[in-house]
Amino acid sequence: MEFFILSIFPNMFESVFNETIIKRAQEKGLVKIELVNIRDFATDKHRTTDDYPYGGGAGMVMKPEPIYRAVDYIKEKRPDVHVVLLSPGGYIFDQKKAKEMSKRASVAIICGRYEGFDERVRYLADEEISIGRFVLSGGEIAAMAIVDATVRLIPGVLGNEESLKEESFENGLIEYPQYTRPRVFRGMAVPDVLLSGNHKKIKEWREKKAKEKTIKWMGVEDG
Ligand code: SAH
Repeated sequence: MEFFILSIFPNMFESVFNETIIKRAQEKGLVKIELVNIRDFATDKHRTTDDYPYGGGAGMVMKPEPIYRAVDYIKEKRPDVHVVLLSPGGYIFDQKKAKEMSKRASVAIICGRYEGFDERVRYLADEEISIGRFVLSGGEIAAMAIVDATVRLIPGVLGNEESLKEESFENGLIEYPQYTRPRVFRGMAVPDVLLSGNHKKIKEWREKKAKEKTIKWMGVEDG
């Protein structure tokens, strides 16, 4: 799978993409990430990527030309690239979307800055994604979250594929509570059932707890 990240701050991605799981996935050749600096596609002397809003108002708006040119550059290489525009009002990213994304061959993610994009940039996008109903100062952190959640679903990326099966949101449930040593910590004991060695009972207990957590946090029960 291949990601193209369009941003005017590509350096922000260095540490996140060059550590642990995302780093290893790239080393194994399972994912390729190309950081595309939108500024490189500005044509004027000062390589401007933003301008004042028509009609007035606070802040600056990202100009359409450099972003269109950057996407043209990607489409020359990957005509079928799936283009995602990040915006606070988009489809709220979830595990279902991460899975869908992990099956794509190439995805371009456009990170906004300032007051957001000239409206015509939206015509470039196959979809608009938000990571929640709050406003970030730029799309970079949202892109990192999307890439992280997607990459770990690509077959071969995680050492232990089993861990994906029991994870939160599989079967519509939040994951059951986990414990490790010590058996009693500051007066809080590990539930007896987990020490019983009775796998049937452990499975039942985990299912029950996962349902309880899900009802508490999501207000939904597994259908
Ligand atoms: N003025 C805009 C917000 C712009 S924030 C508005 O009111 O809608 C600047 C950029 O950060 C956005 O263009 C988007 O790319 C990114 N961004 C901000 N919040 C986001 C969120 N919750 N999810 C995804 N991207 C977000």
